[in-house]
Amino acid sequence: MAPSSTNRGRRRVVLLPLPYQGHINPMLRLAAALHSRGLAVTILHPETRAPDRRKLPADYRLVTIPDNIPPELAASEDIASFVFALNKNCAAPFRDYLAGALREEEEGEDGRLAFVVADVDWFAPLSVARELGVAALALMTTSAARFLVYLAYPSLCRQGYLPVQESNLNTTVEELPPFVFVVRDLDCVKDMAGHLAYADLLAHIVAGVRQSSGLIINTFEDIEGMEIERICREITLPVFAVGPLHMMTLSSSVDSSLLTEDRSCLDWLDTQRSNSVLYVSFGSLVGIDTDEFLEMAWGLADSQHPFLWVVRPGLVRGSESSTLPGELQEKMGNKGRIVSWAPQQEVLRHPSVAAFLTHCGWNSTTESISEGVPMICRPLFGDQMGTARYVCDVWKVGVRVEVENQLKRGEVQTAITRLMDGKEGEMVRERMRDLRHVVLKCTSEGGTSDVALQRLVDSNV
Ligand code: UDP
Repeated sequence: MAPSSTNRGRRRVVLLPLPYQGHINPMLRLAAALHSRGLAVTILHPETRAPDRRKLPADYRLVTIPDNIPPELAASEDIASFVFALNKNCAAPFRDYLAGALREEEEGEDGRLAFVVADVDWFAPLSVARELGVAALALMTTSAARFLVYLAYPSLCRQGYLPVQESNLNTTVEELPPFVFVVRDLDCVKDMAGHLAYADLLAHIVAGVRQSSGLIINTFEDIEGMEIERICREITLPVFAVGPLHMMTLSSSVDSSLLTEDRSCLDWLDTQRSNSVLYVSFGSLVGIDTDEFLEMAWGLADSQHPFLWVVRPGLVRGSESSTLPGELQEKMGNKGRIVSWAPQQEVLRHPSVAAFLTHCGWNSTTESISEGVPMICRPLFGDQMGTARYVCDVWKVGVRVEVENQLKRGEVQTAITRLMDGKEGEMVRERMRDLRHVVLKCTSEGGTSDVALQRLVDSNV
């Protein structure tokens, strides 16, 4: 393929996002950051949830490779099986692509291939690239703390912390920073088969990173300095803390949303009082049961605050619609607005938004911090519990919905009141203002993330 004139002579980077919204967003933000620093970009994507070519900048290349993954598996909550299938099915097509790209480079038809970046979960390409003599880095889209859990997982199993059991949920985990983790913050997989599959997946992820040329993490020094340092000691590879990635590039240069954003909610926010609205969203992946959904709705209805709630298709397991019982609708009146997908960053930036009731996905958490919006945390699985621990007990920029097992009436409302109306909320807001300044410093010119990004661009990994 002939090089486009704007890319002539530019070193090229090939980026492989895992096809989930929470992974595509940071990878495309990294692409934009590298592009703005002079690299030509190729996005290599499996067929599943491939991005719309028209939404990418004109001089990006989009290469789609076959993955042979049944749509039912791609849509299911069985992420481990999906990830294993992706790694297995895409290894050969990726090898063919990379060998072809290297031939084109040799024939002088394309700029030099600088490096490949693959999501840590898409580990097979890391060893394929290595075999073909191409530098390949892994991108950890979530926190450094979570990567430490990955590294420690076998030892946590040997020491009896994992698999999680009802009896040890509140046992303190002495081994890991921030030294306030309890077992329930590590994991929520209680059945043995699920635990073994997850442990196997993490072993593959860690082995992939260890074979790579370096690890890029969507975090920043001032928030996870100790964790980053520990990772550097344990993996003895270059580590680049270049996040939060949405701050490293103009948001207008990245449109990676898989769902259509309902932008009318911004007009609705314009009609609300400054600093009054609770934004509620559980990200792109979490599924909740009807009881949790209704309790959440009662909590919002019973609170005194207007709210904007993202109820995406598939959020409520086994239900296509978000229709609420008449009694609840009546109670809510017109103080709430429900949308199926929102322009989240713009919502968080809106002056009417006072707080974010979130599942603590890493992107949502860092987006909230960057806009200085305090959080009410209702984590449900994976890294979300650990992130909620940091938000509430380490950085202290949010409060938790205190839940024993099932969400009960009053629990959401209590957390909303604590943050929005009480003295505790005042202190949380103040700390959030401070943390926001720290993010702005890290990501501005000369800040640690800016320097790390340039080190990555300049590196000959
Ligand atoms: N998001 C969005 N609109 C919504 C809800 C979420 O654009 O209505 C985006 C959000 O800004 C974030 C991503 O989807 O970048 C969700 O990632 P996160 O890591 O928070 O959660 P996940 O979806 O992986 O659970």
